[in-house]
Amino acid sequence: MSETKTALVTGANKGIGYEIAAGLGALGWSVGVGSRDVERGEAAVAKLRAAGVDAFGVPIDVTDDASVTVAAELMGERGGLDVLVNNAGITGGTPQEPTLVDPATVRAVVETNVLGVIRVTNAMLPLLRRSPSPRIVNMSSTVGSLTRQTTPGVQTGPISAAYATSKTFLNAVTVQYAKELADTNILINAGCPGFCATDLNGFRGVRTPEQGAAIAIHLATLPDGGPTGTFHDDDGPVPW
Ligand code: NAP
Repeated sequence: MSETKTALVTGANKGIGYEIAAGLGALGWSVGVGSRDVERGEAAVAKLRAAGVDAFGVPIDVTDDASVTVAAELMGERGGLDVLVNNAGITGGTPQEPTLVDPATVRAVVETNVLGVIRVTNAMLPLLRRSPSPRIVNMSSTVGSLTRQTTPGVQTGPISAAYATSKTFLNAVTVQYAKELADTNILINAGCPGFCATDLNGFRGVRTPEQGAAIAIHLATLPDGGPTGTFHDDDGPVPW
């Protein structure tokens, strides 16, 4: 492992993921720009490189075992991996009321937002274990907080049996990883970027993707001995 840190950000061809890649690149890190669409990935890499970032493309569909395996091989060939940001995510569209939602929608959202994270994390773990300060960041959402969902008066967006529940599931998975990895130097945390204007929400968000990237960059750069198994946004810890 060289002195320069290497990160992989899934879903980095646009939105918050792109800004996470830009932010980590600005620290002088080498950044793998995960993208399931090779062309969009190459465009993002070109833009990042033009801005001075040591970026390289990593074709990866988080729902596809073979694609994830090839991505892990590519990261290995690039010298390893210090930080994994599991950012790729989908909402599943509408309707999401539990009485109306198509179970296939729930399955597709969980496949990407939860199983995709497990698939990518496990494929990258052998590389991360070789890093002196490995970090894993799971991009979650405060809509996944059951405490917030059940606290009267707290804004949690529309009723959502696929997207919000997938983030609750992701939070639970994050805790289980932290427990299993407690005796290692791997820190794994969930972060919420806030409501950012991206494709995900038809650009209705009130924050910029760059602002949304800040929590991921914070969790990606935690010092050794820092927190693990936590859920944070820019304001601090978010209740589960
Ligand atoms: P976005 O602009 O829609 O970007 C999502 C990214 O994920 C895209 O690069 C997309 O790739 C990628 N992706 C989707 N499915 C994938 C798959 N199967 N394999 C690989 N990549 C895949 O959304 P965003 O707002 O930046 O969201 C980023 C993360 O932040 C998500 O996890 C989201 O849930 C979370 N988040 C966002 C907000 C918000 O307000 N925006 C709030 C809370 C949490 P394609 O271009 O190929 O579709």
